[in-house]
Amino acid sequence: MSRAKAIVVILCALYALVSLLAGWLVYRYAYLETLDQLEETGRIRVQQASDRLMGQLSGYSYLVNLLARHPLVIRSVVDGVPPEAADDLLIDSVLTYGADRISLTDADGRLVASSSPETERDQIEGTVDTSLLRAALNGRLGLEAAFDDDGRRVIRLSRGVLDGAAPAKGAIFVTIDVAALEFEWGIAPEAICFFDASQTVFASTRQSLLRRQDKGLGDGDPRFEPFPHRALEREGGHEVWSFSEAFDLPQRALVVTRALPQVNMTARGFLDTAPARTAAILRGLLTTTVLGAVGLAMLIAALWRRRMADRLAIEAAVNARLEERVERRTSQLKVAQDQLVQASKLTALGEMSAGISHELNQPLAAILNLSENGRKLLDRKRFDEAGENLGQIAGQVQRIDKIIRNLRAFARNEGEGGEPVDLVAAVDYAITLTLPSLEKDGIALSWSAPERQMLVDGGEVRLQQVVVNILSNAQDAMVSSDIKRIDVMLKTDTGEAVLEIADSGPGIPDPTRVFEPFYTTKELGASKGLGLGLSISYGIIRSLGGTLSCHNSAHGGAIFTIRLPLTDRAVQ
Ligand code: ADP
Repeated sequence: MSRAKAIVVILCALYALVSLLAGWLVYRYAYLETLDQLEETGRIRVQQASDRLMGQLSGYSYLVNLLARHPLVIRSVVDGVPPEAADDLLIDSVLTYGADRISLTDADGRLVASSSPETERDQIEGTVDTSLLRAALNGRLGLEAAFDDDGRRVIRLSRGVLDGAAPAKGAIFVTIDVAALEFEWGIAPEAICFFDASQTVFASTRQSLLRRQDKGLGDGDPRFEPFPHRALEREGGHEVWSFSEAFDLPQRALVVTRALPQVNMTARGFLDTAPARTAAILRGLLTTTVLGAVGLAMLIAALWRRRMADRLAIEAAVNARLEERVERRTSQLKVAQDQLVQASKLTALGEMSAGISHELNQPLAAILNLSENGRKLLDRKRFDEAGENLGQIAGQVQRIDKIIRNLRAFARNEGEGGEPVDLVAAVDYAITLTLPSLEKDGIALSWSAPERQMLVDGGEVRLQQVVVNILSNAQDAMVSSDIKRIDVMLKTDTGEAVLEIADSGPGIPDPTRVFEPFYTTKELGASKGLGLGLSISYGIIRSLGGTLSCHNSAHGGAIFTIRLPLTDRAVQ
């Protein structure tokens, strides 16, 4: 594995670890927060249950106080009135207030009257609790929660019977069946248990938990079933009991405790922590999932960017190779082109030399013939004919001179000087030069010179040379034309001088090629030219900053156009 890959793997592992840790922290925070809310709910529920129980008991404490002050009760213990009347009162009270039983004793604890005189008198006598009697005789409200001989859960209240002043002459006892109290509680969503001093469930919202003793480490009271075995934990300041065998209790329960010193009991509410845990786990998982998804997206983006970078690098390398190849090929092409140009030059030179030698050979052969003939004519004293021959020799020499001058003009490219030239005058002079020859061939030329000067940059002679060349080409083209006419027009157009020379000849056979050097439709070697005239003219006009173009007119003749920039627009 490469070093970069190892770093990526380590970073991914770290990120996964951080995501898991964040998920766990969120779970923990959410769990503890929900436990806080659960504790608050439990506190309210336990308080409500305690208040309800204490409320029920306060009704009976009112009853015991009322009976202790009842004149019949007082007379029963003080004067020893027949007990039947008191029995009736107590039976009435039991029926009215829903107590289990009510009994009246004297100060020594001997039964004076009872709500169940016949059946239970003997049993009751034995059940009078000395601590309750003592509390009553001492002027307190006696209260005791106990399991009676039948295993029933009862709460007993006692109050001393005073005859005006202490000491008490007797005591009244009210016994309440706790099951009857529970009956009024209705169904509660949570398990709430009231533990007595021996940690036995004395009252509860769950019947299955009643009489179960939280034995702790010892054996406890053998009469009672053990309370489900539990392990005590503390979570964020909350008491959580987890049960291995839970009966009617949640497996993990948040326990809210409230002491009830008035009845010497402890109330405990058991609230299920499972929903809180499930909600917290979901939030933790969600956090981890979201972080994981973000991490995955980041990883994919990074990998994608890396792949793109790799691809770009590959493309750059391919491009570099391609460029290198193109450069190599270009230089090879350049070499090939140079060789081609060289070859073309040689070919052109060959063609040119062939043309020149052909051109020069004819007048030279003619001069040779004429001079030999001239010598013979002189021998025969035919001086007139010899003179004619000499004239013809001079003509041939002039032709040779013309050919050589053309070649020199083609070879020469330099300018004639920067002096402005009047194009009107140059054209006019060129026409003057050509006109006699044109007229000899029966060609009509129309030319109306503009009155104003048209100053252009360039050499006057070269401009005349161009115009003469175009006019003589027109003259050559119209040899066999019925109508022989040349129109010369000179005008200005947006800062340029425009010269148009149109003829009535057959038109240009191939307008795209006429400016090529050595392009000619005339028979090579004929006296007219070498196919250099227009290419020289084209070069001259270009060197003056203008253009030379040609096209055929709709009527068939050729039109040559020269455009040259005017040097001084003020004189247009
Ligand atoms: P050359 O006159 O020696 O042939 P040029 O370069 O002057 O060389 O002309 C090239 C060719 O252009 C001519 O051979 C002819 O075919 C064509 N050409 C020039 N002027 C005209 C014209 N006015 N009408 C028809 N063809 C023309």
